[in-house]
Amino acid sequence: MIPREIENLSVTFEEKTPQEIIDWDVETFCPDNAMSSSFQTHSVPLLHMVGQIEPNMRIYFTNTSFNFWDTLMFREQLESIWNLNIVDLRAEDSWRIFLRRFGRDLYTQDPDLCCFVHKVQPMQGALAGVKAWITGIRRDQNAHSSKAKILENQKNGLLKINPILNWGRRDIWRNIQEYDLPEHPLLKKGYTSIGCVPCTRRVIPGDGARSGHWQGMGKTEFGLHTEMFELKGSSPFEVIADFTSGQQDEDGGR
Ligand code: SF4
Repeated sequence: MIPREIENLSVTFEEKTPQEIIDWDVETFCPDNAMSSSFQTHSVPLLHMVGQIEPNMRIYFTNTSFNFWDTLMFREQLESIWNLNIVDLRAEDSWRIFLRRFGRDLYTQDPDLCCFVHKVQPMQGALAGVKAWITGIRRDQNAHSSKAKILENQKNGLLKINPILNWGRRDIWRNIQEYDLPEHPLLKKGYTSIGCVPCTRRVIPGDGARSGHWQGMGKTEFGLHTEMFELKGSSPFEVIADFTSGQQDEDGGR
C-alpha cells in the first residue's frame, strides 16, 4: 500500500471499532501479521479480541529474564484459556558473553541499553518476518503515544496497527467487565503498570498509572514505540558503540 492510502485508511479507522480494525488486518495480511503484548491487565481486552478473531496469530512476548513470576503465570493462564499462539522472545545469542558478565545489573548501569537488548532488538528480529504488527498502545498513555495514528508505516516497510489507540482506561474496564475478563494478579497489590521486577514499583494512589516504572532513573519508555525502535546494530559491539556515543552527545562530549 502506498503511504497516501495508509494515511486515508488510518483516518477512516478513527471511526471503526477495534474488532473491525483487527478484521481488516487479518483479511489483508494473515498469516504475515503478528501482535505484541506485555500481558498486563490493560492488555487483556486486545488479547481477547485477537484470540476470538484469529487465534493463530503470533503474539510476541519479550521474556527478559527479569519478568515478574506473576506475569509469566498470567501469560500461561491466558494462553491456556484462549488457546493463544504466544511466542517468547529473548535477547539474541550474540549477547550471551556480555550479559553473563554485565547482565545482572545492566538495568542500573544503562537501562536504555538493557531495554534495547532484552526487548527492542528481539522484537525487531521477530517483526522482520511479518508485514503488519498489532500493538496495544493508547493515546491517553503518554505524550509519545498521544501523537500516534491507527496505521503507521515504519521506515522498514512494516505496518504498525494500533486498534485501541482511541480507547481510554474507562473503555478498557468496560470491556473487562462486559466479558468478565481476568486481571493481572499484581493489579490488586498496587502495580498499575508492570514491567520487569528491578524497574517496577507499586504506584501511590493519585500518581499516574505508569509512575511505578524506572523511578529516579530519568527513563519513561521501554523503547518499542519510540525512536529507539529505529536503532540498528547487528553486533553487540556496534550497539554498545551507538549507545556510548549517544551518552557522550548528552554529556556534551565528556
Ligand atoms: S524494564 Fe528494566 S530490567 Fe526490563 S529490560 Fe528494561 S531496563 Fe532491563
